[in-house]
Amino acid sequence: MFALAFNMVKYFFLEKNDNTYTTLPHTRTALTHAMINIHGKPDPHYRYTMHKLDTVCKRNNKTYFLNLPTVSEELKRNSDEILKWFALTLGVNSNVKEVSLAGKYETSTLQTHFQTYINTHVLCDICGNPETIYLPMLKNVLAKKCASCGGTSIVKVLPKMIKMFVGLSQ
Ligand SMILES: [Zn+2]
Repeated sequence: MFALAFNMVKYFFLEKNDNTYTTLPHTRTALTHAMINIHGKPDPHYRYTMHKLDTVCKRNNKTYFLNLPTVSEELKRNSDEILKWFALTLGVNSNVKEVSLAGKYETSTLQTHFQTYINTHVLCDICGNPETIYLPMLKNVLAKKCASCGGTSIVKVLPKMIKMFVGLSQ
């Protein structure tokens, strides 16, 4: 709730002071509230939900993530890790401080890509629930352990991201 309130204040502030946004304010407010199932499939009874990504393109040819801290917290993942994953997947540079990617991307395109990240890094391969945490890396292999079914599955890590997980103690 606090995160949501913070984001709303942030949007208000940005829109008052920055006229380079290309999306209409009312559209973006609607997106901010949109919740979707973490497994990405329609199911009104599914208990694991998250906010849809909220992103915006600016005239400086960058795409900014506006709610990545909220979304990453909902997935119990690190937002820097997610940003890096997007950068490597799209083959562009990212800026951690700005939470941005080089280039202009539609929010829906990023959301589609994001589901691939969620499927590989968050959802349990055995039961499909998103209650996983990473285990300490062993011989450059990252595994996720599921609190829901107790199963362990391997995460297909992009080679350039391996060093982000080395020494991770979660
Ligand atoms: Zn499981």
